[in-house]
Amino acid sequence: MPDQVDYWSACLMPWPCVLCGQRAGLERVCVGCRADLPWITHACPRCSGPLPPGAAPGLCAACDLALAGLAQVRAALVYEYPVDVLVAAAKFQARRECARALGELLVAGLSRQSFCALPADIIVPVPLHPARLGKRGYNQAVEIARPVAAALRLPLVTRLCRRSRNTEAQSALPGRARHKNLAAAFSVRGSLARSRVLIVDDVVTTGHTLSSLAGSLRRAGAAQVTAWCAARVVPDQARLKV
Ligand SMILES: [Zn+2]
Ligand SMILES: [Zn+2]
Repeated sequence: MPDQVDYWSACLMPWPCVLCGQRAGLERVCVGCRADLPWITHACPRCSGPLPPGAAPGLCAACDLALAGLAQVRAALVYEYPVDVLVAAAKFQARRECARALGELLVAGLSRQSFCALPADIIVPVPLHPARLGKRGYNQAVEIARPVAAALRLPLVTRLCRRSRNTEAQSALPGRARHKNLAAAFSVRGSLARSRVLIVDDVVTTGHTLSSLAGSLRRAGAAQVTAWCAARVVPDQARLKV
């Protein structure tokens, strides 16, 4: 659902769908485009890896993400066309409305999944390094987190965490190098006083970014860290079984 400001502006002037350009109404992706999206519905409750059709609910055979420090990672969509186009537009084409659309899809997608979310007290979007934030003008994870915060009625905390190292683009690095690249990449100001933190991000690939941030949050006193991501990379092997 859109937040209050979005709601009233969408009532006055309905959004065009960010995928097809048709009038979408109160949300940024129209009903027709939503129906065609690669939703993750039957999935592992720990890492959101899709389970084969007909498989009993439960953990997937290969919880292959580096999930240290995280109690649960949930994702709404498989990272493939047209989700990859939306993510690229949000990150590299200054299309903030595409990030908001991903946030709305995240909320809609997770509400369709059968397993429950672990509770949280605050929402922390994955921070961008100030240099990259300056270049992009906004943090897409913050924009994705806005509809999530509105839906869950939780505070969106953007100044608690800082990306202290301008790490290279993760997508260009192999798994092991990603982990090394992210060592001590985040710093947290102050104490989290046993809060339960929900991290929000655009795409989960190996889980190293989320895990690195989760480690910093746990060291600052967080009692539990979970993550919601708009999309999840699904390894080819798992995709074949779906
Ligand atoms: Zn559409
Ligand atoms: Zn799993």
